[in-house]
Amino acid sequence: MRYVDEYRDPALARSLAAEMRSLVTPGEVVRVMEVCGGHTHAIYRHGLEELLPQEVELVHGPGCPVCVIPMGRVDDAIAIAETDGVTLATFGDMLRVPGGRGSLLEAKARGADVRMVYSPLDALALALAGQEPDRHVCFFAIGFETTAPATAVTLLRARAERVSNFSIFCNHVLIEPPLRAILETPGLRVDAFVGPGHVSSVIGTDAYRFIAEEYGRPVVVSAFEPVDLLQSIAMLLRQLAEGRCEVENQYTRVVRPEGNARAIAAIAETMEPREDFEWRGLGVLPRSALQVREPFAALDAERLFALPGARIEDPKACRCGEVLTGQIKPWECGVFGTACTPERPLGTCMVSSEGACAAFFSYGRLRAPREEAPVGA
Ligand code: SF4
Repeated sequence: MRYVDEYRDPALARSLAAEMRSLVTPGEVVRVMEVCGGHTHAIYRHGLEELLPQEVELVHGPGCPVCVIPMGRVDDAIAIAETDGVTLATFGDMLRVPGGRGSLLEAKARGADVRMVYSPLDALALALAGQEPDRHVCFFAIGFETTAPATAVTLLRARAERVSNFSIFCNHVLIEPPLRAILETPGLRVDAFVGPGHVSSVIGTDAYRFIAEEYGRPVVVSAFEPVDLLQSIAMLLRQLAEGRCEVENQYTRVVRPEGNARAIAAIAETMEPREDFEWRGLGVLPRSALQVREPFAALDAERLFALPGARIEDPKACRCGEVLTGQIKPWECGVFGTACTPERPLGTCMVSSEGACAAFFSYGRLRAPREEAPVGA
């Protein structure tokens, strides 16, 4: 396949595997967190874990945007969708995420007008189509800094076109606060980080310097193909072997140290950090999410609709929070693959195409692959 083959070259993969073996100390376990759910899926889809030395343990991180949305925000979206004269539009993954009152797909089955779109601009197009000018279209916006620029551009376009039947239910989250929370979790040891590729294309590699400078852990921002990921883990092992602690960039074909200035400016013009935000598994984190700025108030669903705004506990059997913070592996959850499957998800990590539980289930990782040391050891 043109442009992809070189990133899936078996000889390169084997030589990186050999290099990694030379960089570890026998018996000394190194815990590497891949922050991004896209990386988790790539690792298991391509069987990369089998190429790593026994001493490297992968720990899955919080970088799946669908997985971290708490149940209360899903219920808020359902309340919007069930308002007379309202169409709620969102990404396909969000439709199946369970809230306290079921999912958006179930609300749709009850009669709510819920539609799947590929971008916020598609949702704006629904409002602009003019077929039902009295109908309000609300876009349920989720995602890290990766998808926030598209929401920002949509807000700017909606204001420029003076659209009066459109709003954004803003649930964008920021990558730094959950990483700090993980680094400060007592007993949770992470030795190095594979930095997320997509988020970094917006915020740049400099955004992770706090991990190296304040917490003394190396970071390598990685692309998504098999050789990319193996090279990134080898770069981390090399830093550890040489006693270095830096932020390095493996994804140089896309990511810049300073990020994407225009995207960052569009986010800053339209959205601002909210005081706090509830994360699934991490609790309430200060300044960890975005809200629509005052000049765009007429397009802010949180100002236009009366939302329940309730905090809802996850089901007792659900251990998504521990999966999202790397404290357990998906197969350690008692309902993994039984009461919780991709067809009937109990928790968010089984819903999304970036969820760790969905990755483990889809690629047959139903139990411990080898004897693993406890995460906190
Ligand atoms: Fe959550 Fe289901 Fe994974 Fe358990 S198996 S952690 S309930 S998604």
